[in-house]
Amino acid sequence: MSDTIDLLRRQVADLHQELVRYGLVVWTAGNVSARVPGEDLLVIKPSGVSYDELTPENMILCDLHGNVVEGEHAPSSDTAAHAYVYRHRPDVGGVVHTHSTYASAWAARGEPVPCVLTAMADEFGAEIPIGPFALIGDDSIGRGIVETLDGHRSPAVLMKSHGVFTIGKDARAAVKAAVMCEDVARTVHVSRQLGEPLPIAQADIDRLNFRYQNVYGQRPAAQ
Ligand SMILES: [Zn+2]
Repeated sequence: MSDTIDLLRRQVADLHQELVRYGLVVWTAGNVSARVPGEDLLVIKPSGVSYDELTPENMILCDLHGNVVEGEHAPSSDTAAHAYVYRHRPDVGGVVHTHSTYASAWAARGEPVPCVLTAMADEFGAEIPIGPFALIGDDSIGRGIVETLDGHRSPAVLMKSHGVFTIGKDARAAVKAAVMCEDVARTVHVSRQLGEPLPIAQADIDRLNFRYQNVYGQRPAAQ
């Protein structure tokens, strides 16, 4: 058990550096968490600690109500939202939050990113939806994430006037969704400066998404 938690502490600390590498975060904004498989526990970034100083040791272990189980710092101020998602989505093993520029620009307008690129059909399988305006401090952000993504293919939601939350089967998948979300938000934004992006037929979105989610990539034996 403690081996699993140590591994997740390292993984979550390392994945925060991916947010920096892809330019998704400034200062101490943004956070990654991972569910501890089979336990009512999660590992998340400490609050207010700079990205340079994040280590496996200072990651915080919390229960699924956001209470600290192990850790010297306070957990990320977004912990309640992450915990809410884990409580209501047993299939989710990782959650990421960023204020990445282009995605947040769509969020500021309250406008979903339309699915107009094959890469979007692959990864998101639909538009990237807008979640409600919600203030930090209670369950309203977590509830907004869960309700918006319920029955939606997209692993990303743009919380209105705020930023991005992504989910994944593990923390790495959620980070990938956050990176791809910013990438397509930027491209579709640029496209719109030139005119109106062309829609992709729903049947083609369905086909692309099915192929990407089920066929694409290395098979386990070839890794
Ligand atoms: Zn935020």
